[in-house]
Amino acid sequence: MSVIDSLGMLIARKWIAGEDLQHAIQEAKRLNSKKENVIMNYLGEDLKSKRLVEQNMAQIMRLLDEMHSKKIRGSIAVKPTQTGLVISRSYFEKNYSEILAKASRCGITVWLDMEQYLFVSSTISTYLKFHGRYKNTGICIQAKLKRSLKDIERIARQKGMVRLVKGAYKYPSTISFQDKRSVYNNYLRCMDYLFSHMERFMIATHDDSIIRIATDNEKKYRKKISFGMLKGVRSSLAAKTAESEDMNVYLPYGEEWMKYSIRRLSEWEHTKIIIRSIIQG
Ligand SMILES: Cc1cc2nc3c(=O)[nH]c(=O)nc-3n(C[C@H](O)[C@H](O)[C@H](O)COP(=O)(O)OP(=O)(O)OC[C@H]3O[C@@H](n4cnc5c(N)ncnc54)[C@H](O)[C@@H]3O)c2cc1C
Repeated sequence: MSVIDSLGMLIARKWIAGEDLQHAIQEAKRLNSKKENVIMNYLGEDLKSKRLVEQNMAQIMRLLDEMHSKKIRGSIAVKPTQTGLVISRSYFEKNYSEILAKASRCGITVWLDMEQYLFVSSTISTYLKFHGRYKNTGICIQAKLKRSLKDIERIARQKGMVRLVKGAYKYPSTISFQDKRSVYNNYLRCMDYLFSHMERFMIATHDDSIIRIATDNEKKYRKKISFGMLKGVRSSLAAKTAESEDMNVYLPYGEEWMKYSIRRLSEWEHTKIIIRSIIQG
């Protein structure tokens, strides 16, 4: 490993469970012992060759076996471009259905992560095609996108399951809200809709204000929902929320940690917090 890679890995360790399955399972057990469920993710995205997709598929199948045999409490997340969407929609659908079939035998839920705009429509259509047959699956929706409330309405009509996030990708102003306040407001609009129309959904954010409104809504709507946070981000808030709520920590692992880490680092205002926490240990 070069010096740059070692330095990168040192920073990435904040957010990823390690480079192999063994470390990821250890971390999952540790979180489970603190009442936190996990959303395990084998890192991979933007795969342009079938050989790489098949390697990723093998890892995802291994992950399901391990979670099942080690009785890990949690779900998995997969990226559409990790499972073949760059190559073709039909190839992605074949792989997604294989994952769903195996996960269903293991009693594990599969989340479809949401990636760049180019893939949003096809990801939602594929999700809606399969979730009727396999109930053990949900989809991530990005509040940053102007279309998202309509997408949520469509998913709700077909009784799907949504994990609501702000969105980690950059988009032009024609299709997305640009400033933090507008993204926040759209998040609240989408969340209101989820509370009034859906039974099962996840509020995935580290934003205290949204978490507070969501826990108030649980009382108002008499619903128990799920919460999600990323490993290494506001861990004490995750632990506190886990005392009374269904808390799920997104736990990525694998060798392809660079792109994921860059997305976390690009949430620039947080970088100083991270560097301080690395220095302080
Ligand atoms: C479970 C889960 C799954 C996700 N899946 C997807 C997905 O499939 N597709 C997608 O586009 N995005 C996904 N995201 C990322 C999400 O879109 C946001 O980029 C990320 O969660 C930051 O937004 P926020 O809601 O926490 O609000 P922000 O306003 O960004 O942050 C709220 C507060 O949290 C803290 N914080 C947030 N991020 C960081 C950080 N990186 N480091 C340190 N502190 C931080 C800060 O204190 C900040 O003030 C996921 C997030 C979660 C929690």
